[in-house]
Amino acid sequence: MTSQVNHWIGGTESGGSAARSSPVYDPATGIVSAQVVLGSASDVDEAVRAAREAFPAWRDASLARRQTVLFTFRELLNQRKSELAEIITAEHGKILDDALGEVARGQEVVEFACGLPHLLKGGYSENASTRVDVHSVRQPLGVVAVISPFNFPAMVPMWFFPIAIACGNTVVLKPSEKDPSAAVWLARLWAEAGLPPGVFNVVHGDKEAVDRLLEHPDVRGVSFVGSTPIARHVYETATRHGKRVQALGGAKNHMVVLPDADLDLAADAAVNAGFGSAGERCMAVSAVVAVEPVADELIRKIVERMARIRTGDGRRSCDMGPLVTAAHRDRVASYLDAGVTEGATLVVDGRKVEPDGAPDGFWLGPTLFDDVSPTMSIYTDEIFGPVLSVLRAESFDNAMTLVNSNPYGNGAAIFTNDGGAARRFESEVEAGMVGINVPIPVPMAYYSFGGWKASLFGDTHAYGAEGVHFFTRGKVVTTRWVDPSHGGLSLGFPRSD
Ligand code: NAD
Repeated sequence: MTSQVNHWIGGTESGGSAARSSPVYDPATGIVSAQVVLGSASDVDEAVRAAREAFPAWRDASLARRQTVLFTFRELLNQRKSELAEIITAEHGKILDDALGEVARGQEVVEFACGLPHLLKGGYSENASTRVDVHSVRQPLGVVAVISPFNFPAMVPMWFFPIAIACGNTVVLKPSEKDPSAAVWLARLWAEAGLPPGVFNVVHGDKEAVDRLLEHPDVRGVSFVGSTPIARHVYETATRHGKRVQALGGAKNHMVVLPDADLDLAADAAVNAGFGSAGERCMAVSAVVAVEPVADELIRKIVERMARIRTGDGRRSCDMGPLVTAAHRDRVASYLDAGVTEGATLVVDGRKVEPDGAPDGFWLGPTLFDDVSPTMSIYTDEIFGPVLSVLRAESFDNAMTLVNSNPYGNGAAIFTNDGGAARRFESEVEAGMVGINVPIPVPMAYYSFGGWKASLFGDTHAYGAEGVHFFTRGKVVTTRWVDPSHGGLSLGFPRSD
């Protein structure tokens, strides 16, 4: 019998109404490892109620008390990260090293949140008018919802909830139904760290649960990460219901290689950024723009490196794991036929891979296309798998036009030794995160993560100072006190009588 992954509401596990469930797979074997309950609207209501009831006491908890819980959470996470990494690999499929890397990046946001009392300090102006003082504070919103994708089941939720909790909010997390166990593991860790019941809740589910969160009157803010069509839906629905929303969407990240670049460095970067986590990363490079005459040489170096990638079970020291589900693998593989039909050159065919893993795993090896043009579906669509496309550009100007014409604007990178070209790229490229000789420019926790154009709906990026801003609202207080030693009531403006 397979196990059941339950909600976490008000400090305990709950099966909820359990009317519907969905299979969770081990992608490296194809075996169903668990059934996750899919929350109904009433399960969401129960979680939001628990969060709303926990809010007043948590909002009033001192900064020192909140900080103690956060530091304890950080210590426990650090001690047990390998446990969490194993859960991620078992349900997502990424290799253990990538899973550990994911936990480390999430932990950095927890560490940032540990220092939050400093960031929550307001401003103060003495004597803004005669004996009138003004100060500002930032206060929590109340109940906030976090809705996350399958590709980083621990890190993406950790972009948001440590900061939300540190700011005094209470949280309902709706993780991806494809790999739901990491979220429940994190909820147990919070309980162990001393977080009061109801401050952090997990509701599993699909569209039904998400839509209830988007319209629930007690949910004040929504942080979403996922594909662009769903991000747009989340943004439009939740803002219509009066909530503040940050909805991070899909991506098509470009890596421009100029003729003067170090081609070994560029080839290493393209392979790591294209095929790491089987290309299921929102910051994965999927389009390499080779500015001629470098394309032939660059492709030769990339192919050489691709031949060394071992695809297989993430628990067996391989370099690249399976895709998350059979349906996703089939969808990604369908682009290999589409690319050939549309006239691209299939240089390496990932369907021929011989994986180090069970025969029923959701395998697709690293794939490379050359001669890709901007109208082909392998370029226009976000494939979200181990498929790298090379586009040949005649000049740096052509490359810039190509990158900036793309509807997405998450990350973009340039490889060059020309400081002037790099500076122009940095200044003119329409993307939220830019790398200069760095293929995956994910900002550190003390900056903020977010794209432009179809990669972000709303105006606030994740974590860093923008995260603190998102999870708090400002209040400005103007104060005047009666002071008999200064002649009684000060009216705050010069008396004319
Ligand atoms: P997804 O959009 O299918 O799902 C994301 C979340 O939305 C999940 O919790 C899912 O249950 C829910 N959902 C799915 N369909 C829904 C619907 N019709 N109505 C309401 N909710 C729905 O995304 P995914 O496949 O889990 O993740 C991959 C996508 O996420 C890619 O597009 C990737 O680029 C994107 N992503 C973006 C970032 C970023 O920072 N911009 C980071 C990670 C992933």
